[in-house]
Amino acid sequence: MTLSHAEYQAIAAKLTPNGQAFIDGKFCDAADGDKFETTNPATGQVLSRVAHCKSGDVDRAVKAARRVFNDGTWSRAEPEHRKEVLLKVAALVREHTNELAVLESLDTGKTITDCLHEIGTEVPNFFQWYAELADKTFGKIAPTGPSALALVVNEPAGIAGAVLPWNFPLVMAAWKIAPALAVGCSAVIKPAEQTPLTTIRLAELMQEAGVPDGVINILPGYGHTAGKAIGLHNDIDTVSFTGSTEVGRMFLRYAGDSNLKGVGLEMGGKSPFIVLEDAAINDDLIEHAAMSAFWNGGQNCSANMRQLIAAPLVEEFTARVCSRVKAFRLGDPLDPSTEIGSMISKDHKTMVMEYIQSGLDQGAKMIIGGGSDLPGHFIEPTVFQNVTPDMKIAREEIFGPVLGVMPVQSPEEALAIACDTDYGLHATVFTRDIDRAIHMARSLPCGTVSINGFSEGDIKTPFGGYKQSGSLARDNGTEALAQYMQTKTIWISS
Ligand code: NAD
Repeated sequence: MTLSHAEYQAIAAKLTPNGQAFIDGKFCDAADGDKFETTNPATGQVLSRVAHCKSGDVDRAVKAARRVFNDGTWSRAEPEHRKEVLLKVAALVREHTNELAVLESLDTGKTITDCLHEIGTEVPNFFQWYAELADKTFGKIAPTGPSALALVVNEPAGIAGAVLPWNFPLVMAAWKIAPALAVGCSAVIKPAEQTPLTTIRLAELMQEAGVPDGVINILPGYGHTAGKAIGLHNDIDTVSFTGSTEVGRMFLRYAGDSNLKGVGLEMGGKSPFIVLEDAAINDDLIEHAAMSAFWNGGQNCSANMRQLIAAPLVEEFTARVCSRVKAFRLGDPLDPSTEIGSMISKDHKTMVMEYIQSGLDQGAKMIIGGGSDLPGHFIEPTVFQNVTPDMKIAREEIFGPVLGVMPVQSPEEALAIACDTDYGLHATVFTRDIDRAIHMARSLPCGTVSINGFSEGDIKTPFGGYKQSGSLARDNGTEALAQYMQTKTIWISS
C-alpha cells in the first residue's frame, strides 16, 4: 500500500543511516578512520558520514572472505541451506521495503515510487530467483566411451568482487550479490560513493537472515581507493563491474596488472528508439518513448536517447512526446506524485547542462526543458529536434534527461544510424510489420532489442551489452551464474 507524502517524510525523519563498512560480520570504520559525507541531492542535507575504505580495508575483507570460503561454511553448504538463507534475505527486504525505499530515495534523489518498485519487488525477486536456482543448477556428464566417466562440474569461483554505480544502488547490489552467493562465492562489494546507504543496511539484513560472517562484505569508498583496490587485489577471483565504459576499461587493466581475475563488465549506452513508417503513433507508443528516455531522470544505462523517427511521422511524434513530457512532475522525491527526481549531484547536473549547451551551440533546436528553477539538482526533461548523427548530443552518453529526435528516410537509414556508435546495450523498434521487426532485431548489435515497447526484460532474461557497452558476461537470467562459477572436468578412467 502506498503511503502519503507526509508518512514517507515521517519515516525519513526517524532514519539514522549507518555509514560504516561491514567486514567479517561486523560494522566498522575504515582502518585509518577516514570518512566522507553522503548527501541528499534533492536538498543538500548530509545523511551520514561514511567509512572511506582503502586498500588495507579491502585486504581485511578479502582475508575474511577467503577464510570462510576455504572453511566451506557457505561455499560447501548444502545448496538447500543457501537457498533457505537467501529466501530469508528476500523476505526481510520485503518486510523493510518502506524504510529501504525512503533511504534509497534520500541517498539518490530518485522518486519514492521508483524506489518502492525496485526495493519492494525487484530486489527481493532477485534474491528469491537465485535462491531457487541454488539447488537446481546441474553440471553435465560428457559422452565418453566405456573406459571413462567425464563429469563437468560447476564450482564457486571463490571471492567475487563487485563495484557498483549510483543509479539503481540496491538493484545493482542484488544483481551481483544474489547469483554470487547462490553458487557459494564470498563477496566483497563496493557501492558507489554517492549511494552507499541501502547496501550497508542490506548487509545487516543478510546477517539477520543467516549469511555467515565473511561471506558478505560491504566496503564504501571512492573508485580510486576501494574500487581500484578490488580491481588489483591478487586474491579476488572474479570482479563484476557496472558503470562507465571509461572505468570498465580500467578493470581490464587491473586484472592484467594483478592476478588475471575474471572481469564482467556492464557499461554505458546510447540506445536508439526506432519508429518505422508503418507504426501507429498512439498513446502507448508515446508513453514508451517518454519513459524510455526520462525514467530515472534519464540516468539509465539503456535510456533510449536517440529517437529515430520515420520522416512522415516525425512532426506528430515530436508534438505528442513534448505534450507528454510537459506533464511530468518534478519535485520532492518523497512525494508519491513526483515522477522525476533530482540528478545525483551538482557536478552531474553541471555536466548534463554542458551537453544541453553543446546541443544549442551545434544547431539543434531545444523544444522543451533545458533546466529547472527548483532548488537542488533538478533538470527538466529536455527534447531537441533537428539533431544530426554527428552532434555531440547524438553520440555521447549524457546520462541525464536529454533526448534527441532525428527524422529518418528509411528503415535502412535508421539501422545505419542506430549502429553507428561504440555502444550496444539496448534498442527499441516500433513497427507493425513482423518481418521488419525480426530483421531489425537480428541486425542491431545490442544486448537487448525490444519490439513495440521499451523494456529491459526481467530477472529471467540476460542483460548486458555488445561492443563497448559490455564484456561477454551477462547479469540476470541463468547466464549471470557463469560470472561466479568455475568449470571443472573430472575424468575418471575405469
Ligand atoms: P562510474 O564508472 O563513474 O562509477 C561506477 C563505479 O566505479 C563506482 O563505484 C565508482 O566509485 C567506481 N570507480 C570510479 N573510478 C574508479 C577507478 N578508477 N577504479 C575503480 N573503480 C572506480 O559510473 P557511474 O557514474 O557510477 O554510473 C554511470 C555509468 O554506469 C553510466 O555510464 C551507465 O551507463 C553505467 N551503467 C551501466 C549499467 C549496465 O548494466 N550496463 C547499469 C547502470 C549504469
